[in-house]
Amino acid sequence: MARRAFVTGSAGFIGFHLSQRLLAAGWEVLGLDGISDYYDVTLKRRRHEILAAEPGFRGVEGLLETPGLVRGLVETFRPDAIIHLAAQAGVRHSIDAPRSYVDSNLIGTFEILEAARAVPPQHMLLASTSSAYGANEVMPYAEVHKADHQMSFYAATKKATESMAHSYAHLYGLPTTMFRFFTVYGPWGRPDMALFKFVKAILYGEAIDVYNQGDMRRDFTYIDDLVEGIVRLIDAAPGTAPVGEFDSLSPVAPWRVVNIGNGAPVQLLDFVAAIEAATGQAAQKNLLPMQPGDVPATWADATLIEALIGALPRTDIRTGVQRFVDWYRTYYRA
Ligand code: NAD
Repeated sequence: MARRAFVTGSAGFIGFHLSQRLLAAGWEVLGLDGISDYYDVTLKRRRHEILAAEPGFRGVEGLLETPGLVRGLVETFRPDAIIHLAAQAGVRHSIDAPRSYVDSNLIGTFEILEAARAVPPQHMLLASTSSAYGANEVMPYAEVHKADHQMSFYAATKKATESMAHSYAHLYGLPTTMFRFFTVYGPWGRPDMALFKFVKAILYGEAIDVYNQGDMRRDFTYIDDLVEGIVRLIDAAPGTAPVGEFDSLSPVAPWRVVNIGNGAPVQLLDFVAAIEAATGQAAQKNLLPMQPGDVPATWADATLIEALIGALPRTDIRTGVQRFVDWYRTYYRA
């Protein structure tokens, strides 16, 4: 019988790619997404339509925080794995619209945890973020480092979900992995993120806003590499196998925090140069100061994930950016 995955945020960027990958591997996938209007809903609906064309997929449109919705779906579907990706994302938006982060990230995650308590999956996997490391200046970021000075409300809510999930792992013995993703990019990527905005502006001859005068580094992680890490980790639930010195951040709970990142940060101006090469057009840059909530650099220590599941593919930035630009040109006929 096919294994069953409940994927939240299935019309989102990562949820869409992950669902495609699970379906190709023979999983049955139940996707839930509220199709929020934070960015282009047409893009989200298109992703869900593509998934719906696959026989193993069922998509439900609804909000996590709707009382009883998640619990009802989980009781009926009885997933082997719950992969909770739905969230209100975005660092800057969290300063303008913090309440949506409370609703989606805190209440939404609570509903997921309650459903998992009622019908425990073999493995529960939830998305946190490199932003959880906050003002940590020790590079690269390793899971054993302190992460307690979040710089944005987005990061604060994601860090809070880590504590919430840890308490459920501990109290109810739920095998739980909390991912910290590092700036994910690739085809079907998010319109609110730098790559999408920069490519669009450059193709239409408009200027791009480059923060901190371009002196920023991001550990850009290509979507297929990230999805590969998630899929392999599904079968590496904590508590089921010894994992050496990284066994757990807690001595008790079947729990772990795992970075998924490329491990090779790229300077923002090199990132822009990769877009210029892929589009064949020069960028006009507005060099601006650092934005509130941002951090100057992110960098994943990938030692733990590779100890758990082996070496991961690492698509280089030029190849990844080229694939995005090719997708963008086709999808938007640009
Ligand atoms: P996304 O915005 O494309 O996908 C999230 C999806 O969740 C959206 O389709 C949205 O409609 C849905 N959603 C939001 N609130 C909801 C709610 N209350 N109920 C139901 N659905 C809701 O974002 P993404 O880039 O695919 O990110 C997926 C996860 O990874 C998020 O948890 C995000 O915080 C995390 N993350 C992403 C990145 C990145 O670079 N993309 C980096 C770090 C962490």
